[in-house]
Amino acid sequence: MFTRVKGFRDIYGISYHYFNGLMSILDEHARRGGFTHIELPMLEKAGLFSKSAGNESDIVSKEMYVFSNTASNKKTEPIALRPEGTAPAVRAYIENKMYTQQYRIDKIAYAGAMFRRERPQRGRYRQFYQYGVEVFATKEPHADAELITMAYDAITEYGLKGVEVCLNSIGCKDCRREYEDALRNHFANHKDSLCQDCQERYHSRPMRLLDCKKDAQNTHTINAPKITDYLCNECGEHFDGVKNWLNTMGTPFTVDTRIVRGLDYYMRTAFELVHTPEHNNDAPSSVICGGGRYNGLVKSLGGPDVEGVGFAMGMDRIMEALMEQDKNHDDQNDQTNEDHSQTLLTADAYIATPLNTNNQTLGQSIATSITKGLRRAGLCVIMNPTCSSLKSQLKAANRYNARFTIIIGDNEIAEEALLVRDMASGEQVHIPLNLDEHNHTNTNTHTDSELCEGIVDLIFGGDVEGMADVIPDYTDYDNDDDYDYDNDDDYDDDDTNINK
Ligand SMILES: [Zn+2]
Ligand SMILES: [Zn+2]
Repeated sequence: MFTRVKGFRDIYGISYHYFNGLMSILDEHARRGGFTHIELPMLEKAGLFSKSAGNESDIVSKEMYVFSNTASNKKTEPIALRPEGTAPAVRAYIENKMYTQQYRIDKIAYAGAMFRRERPQRGRYRQFYQYGVEVFATKEPHADAELITMAYDAITEYGLKGVEVCLNSIGCKDCRREYEDALRNHFANHKDSLCQDCQERYHSRPMRLLDCKKDAQNTHTINAPKITDYLCNECGEHFDGVKNWLNTMGTPFTVDTRIVRGLDYYMRTAFELVHTPEHNNDAPSSVICGGGRYNGLVKSLGGPDVEGVGFAMGMDRIMEALMEQDKNHDDQNDQTNEDHSQTLLTADAYIATPLNTNNQTLGQSIATSITKGLRRAGLCVIMNPTCSSLKSQLKAANRYNARFTIIIGDNEIAEEALLVRDMASGEQVHIPLNLDEHNHTNTNTHTDSELCEGIVDLIFGGDVEGMADVIPDYTDYDNDDDYDYDNDDDYDDDDTNINK
């Protein structure tokens, strides 16, 4: 037996339901915000990431899947499975000249798998999914606030509770120089109290000392000078602009001066959406979305000098957080936690064909027509390909959570009427079937369409509750006496469409 590669996972059943739900909401919010979707390749030249994230970054130095792009010994540029999406998005923006009048696109959205060889742990996968957006060529703080609002609104609509927007400005090169000196001075006599990584970062990237998890409770870290006290006029105005717009948009946020973002190209706005499970105060908070402004990145990758601002959302963490929240909610409501992967499947109709050998060809032909017609009408239909007992076929219908079972058995063929059974209420109704007109070699006959229309009306029309033609439980089905074929009158009154 083969197993998954360590750090990778399958997303299926209930998980896929949560995954897909999140994807749909994010796509919808991107559409509403005027974003153009872009499908980026999974492979990029490794140099793209060394250039954007820096060779010293963990992403590039430790976590990237890099390999040769050739089977021969010929030396080629190494390629990498994308570890993040911003650099590829910027690469695409430049390469496709989206900054020009002719091909102008300013707002792009992308989604998909990213790959990092991280230490596998709960909620972290080596193939993980991000939803990202980038807005180019605007320095307006309005763009930053709109992105934050979009991320917050989408996650709120998804249903996740306990989400907080944490906002900071990390200034520009000018104000940062002064601030970094202030940080070095502050930590100068306390270096020993910091972790090994921070001691190494002290000189080269002192701002990273602030978001170190190991030193989060270190009093020197907590009391470190704040970047917001060192912003230059322009950066200060921009930061005020973002805050004002967020207030106007009604998006709650708190300023957290310890957010610095890991990558060098960020400037001014840096933000995170942090999730803290409401049902479990002991559970650690996790960052589910991170973003910021990166003026200068486009230029450094060979494009024009245009600004950029964007975010990337960790879809895996968000969906797992909501699954956890829902599970907890179910527990509190004392509901039985059944296997959700089962209850997910809900077929609109299940076509059962309990048939004798004589009727099989005709019956299955009718069943095939109906399946095809109903699917064309947009319904989810499962057709049983066997002619086993009705009991076993109804069991299968329940396994698919079918709302209706359409029975085409020997009795139905004899009486030239289908039986549609509401699986929840047990109510049943007949729909006449004109076998003379049924051309069972051609599944596209007019008759079939009309017939399916009747069934579609029945399923979508809400007339099922009014069905008077109630038949005893299906366990009695085999007993012809209980099986009242001729009592169609009430049904005809209820829905004349069926017979037109
Ligand atoms: Zn500045
Ligand atoms: Zn540290």
